[in-house]
Amino acid sequence: MLIDLTLIQKNEGGSLPISCEVALSGQTYFGQEYQFETPFEVSGKILNFGSELELKAKAKGEFRTFCDRCLKEIRVACEFPVEERLVRAGAEIGEEEAYLYEGHEIDLDDIVLKNFLLNASSKYLCSPECKGLCPNCGKDLNEGACNCSDEKMDSRFAILSEWKKED
Ligand SMILES: [Zn+2]
Ligand SMILES: [Zn+2]
Repeated sequence: MLIDLTLIQKNEGGSLPISCEVALSGQTYFGQEYQFETPFEVSGKILNFGSELELKAKAKGEFRTFCDRCLKEIRVACEFPVEERLVRAGAEIGEEEAYLYEGHEIDLDDIVLKNFLLNASSKYLCSPECKGLCPNCGKDLNEGACNCSDEKMDSRFAILSEWKKED
């Protein structure tokens, strides 16, 4: 979604309201997959501070990803700030980070995605009590116990009994 800055660029001290939907395509970031089936609702404004513009907005929506423990696909609702200094390419940027744009347009998709990833956690769970998969047989332990735990218990007892024999 491209936003035309022509009006706000001329209006020093003014602000331009933003209210739109931004559809993102799927991403993989630090090994975590994110799928977006519905667009994010973005609302806020662009402020003109003279030498630079500032975007102050909020995005609301949901995404699909996988539970970190049992790998089940889950849907996560989210809301995050979308805030960016907008500096025209070639102008003085200063110390702080800024989004550089050319001409009179910014691509809101890029900015929303960047802010989404900034706010995303690398771990999502289907439930805080998720038991995950058995590291041995791969069974989803939320669906019931597997037989591996009994075997582990046996081997621990075996070690203990050997140690006793040495005394
Ligand atoms: Zn899970
Ligand atoms: Zn198992």
